[in-house]
Amino acid sequence: MIGRPVALLLGLLTLALALLPLPVGAAGKKKPAETVAPPPPAPVEPKVFFKTTYRAIVEAGDYEELKTRVPDGMTVMKSEDGHSGYLLKTVPVTSEEQLIGLMGATSTAGLTDGQRGLVAAYRFSCSPAVGQYTPYFPYPAATFTIELNDTTGFDDETRFPAVQNDFWPRNGRMVWTLDGKPSAAEFTICMSPVATRGFGVDTAPQMYSIMIHELAHSLDLTAAEEGAYGKDGTHYFNERIGERAAFQEGFADYAQFALEPSLVDRYRRDLDRVKLEGENGYTTLSATDTALPAADLLRVEGVVALTLFRMSRTIPGGGRKILAAFKASNATDNTFPRFLKTYAGQNPDAVASVAAALDAETHGRLTAGELRSLLGSSPALEEYLAGRAAPADEAPGAVFAPVALPPTPVAPPQDGVTQSTTAIRQPVRLAPEDTSPFADGE
Ligand SMILES: [Zn+2]
Repeated sequence: MIGRPVALLLGLLTLALALLPLPVGAAGKKKPAETVAPPPPAPVEPKVFFKTTYRAIVEAGDYEELKTRVPDGMTVMKSEDGHSGYLLKTVPVTSEEQLIGLMGATSTAGLTDGQRGLVAAYRFSCSPAVGQYTPYFPYPAATFTIELNDTTGFDDETRFPAVQNDFWPRNGRMVWTLDGKPSAAEFTICMSPVATRGFGVDTAPQMYSIMIHELAHSLDLTAAEEGAYGKDGTHYFNERIGERAAFQEGFADYAQFALEPSLVDRYRRDLDRVKLEGENGYTTLSATDTALPAADLLRVEGVVALTLFRMSRTIPGGGRKILAAFKASNATDNTFPRFLKTYAGQNPDAVASVAAALDAETHGRLTAGELRSLLGSSPALEEYLAGRAAPADEAPGAVFAPVALPPTPVAPPQDGVTQSTTAIRQPVRLAPEDTSPFADGE
């Protein structure tokens, strides 16, 4: 089975983050006498700090035994299985050359596929593209610890069955509040090659893409509904999931497409059919089957992602406008319809283009009433609706070969801590480093 499997794992958060010192303003400056009204304060850009840590498994064994003998320069980590653990060589990363050296090589040619993937993730985290995210962080301050976990030598699942789960790529988040408002957030992005085993030369581009996706989640306050991903806790690009979850994942997928548009055609093929999860597993329906309500298509992350991508490419300034509406609608209960309403309110001139993007990605199945509900009534929308083509009746492509995903364990989130772990497990090409993650096609 081939699909666009997207695995979700809600893992236990490793509370290993130390809050990085925040810069402080110049103290003790003499205040000048005020003769005129002071100018309005400039918008405050969030303070965002990154640090990267290389962590190599040196030994796996019984946690209680290992923690009695932790050598200098190593840390001990407990497995989610509750009894095993790891000794990890843990070193701050200061440069790509140093990282490659820590892995025992002098160039990437001397590394394993997985180690090259760690270098690729590190490159993205250092690239100018990351700076594009900064104005959109929903917290006054955010610190990131990117863990580059080197599992080399411990990839045999029969000998080390817990490694895959313990080092699955994820984005853990802790949020501090002050007077009821978020004051700072600490993110721990766990990267490792375990989600891309067997990808060969595609491992590095794949891990680069996972890094984009995980980082994009950091911008988002949306909280997926309880049980949003169904019984298996796994979500697919073409699965009908919770409305909030579909927006959350669709936005992160869009961030990947914005940086790497060549992905779009490959992913789109999966959307001919929609996966529906029930008590007894999955069924699939054609995206044009009337047994599937048209509005349910907006609960498919791939439809959200491709509609956003189309908007970014067909509307002047599309990428920036999407982010402006994203920022304005960003909230725990955000959904694609709520985002669209915000977008339409901010961009009345673009309403017809948004309706056209929705029509293109939902096979023209939304009714006029549904489009009015999503975008608000306006003369521009009425003009679009008057000239609207009849709903598409062409059958979707017949080729559909979904790929099975290994089952992904799910642990309940801890109180007060938002956690999410997701990875699109789809091989991709390495993106150019100087491309904005939110290129708007201008
Ligand atoms: Zn995700």
